[in-house]
Amino acid sequence: MVIALYPGSFDPVTKGHVDIAERAAPLFEQLIVAVYDAPPKHLLFTTEERVELMRKALVHLPNVRVTFFSGLTVEFAKEVKADVIVRGLRMSSDFEREFEMALMNKKLAPNMELICFMTNLEYEFISSSLLKEVCRLGGCIDDLVPEHVAAALRDKLHR
Ligand code: ADP
Repeated sequence: MVIALYPGSFDPVTKGHVDIAERAAPLFEQLIVAVYDAPPKHLLFTTEERVELMRKALVHLPNVRVTFFSGLTVEFAKEVKADVIVRGLRMSSDFEREFEMALMNKKLAPNMELICFMTNLEYEFISSSLLKEVCRLGGCIDDLVPEHVAAALRDKLHR
């Protein structure tokens, strides 16, 4: 009976994120997908918007709960009784960053385990930052995000 936490900025959720949640959810009793409220980067969507977009994207997964958190990921993981943190890996640069974070998290919370899912080949090139840039410049992002996210992006960027 393991609870897992999938934390991220999710600004906004992409098909890459949805794929990780869909593959992780069946392996755990519950998967808590948590939007980090204040990552050290410029955000396009508010915390409430990111949570709402994620909720809609994962509504088909019964054992998934979507929420948000502030502060240290490992502290929030303990609060929701998660034993495992889930992350996704696309390329070697992701690995270096995740590895560094994992070692720090291990120092902060020795009992917490990290499980990384390799990206689906189809979604390897998808990142929230790149697709915001492409959408801003008028490129088509319809295949890369759920339909409601594409609409929200267009609304934000071309209003
Ligand atoms: P961060 O939380 O580091 O700001 P994101 O919110 O974009 O980054 O992503 C959350 C998690 O999902 C990270 O572990 C990231 O590597 C992973 N991820 C992002 N895009 C993809 C993708 N296309 N395929 C697989 N994993 C991904």
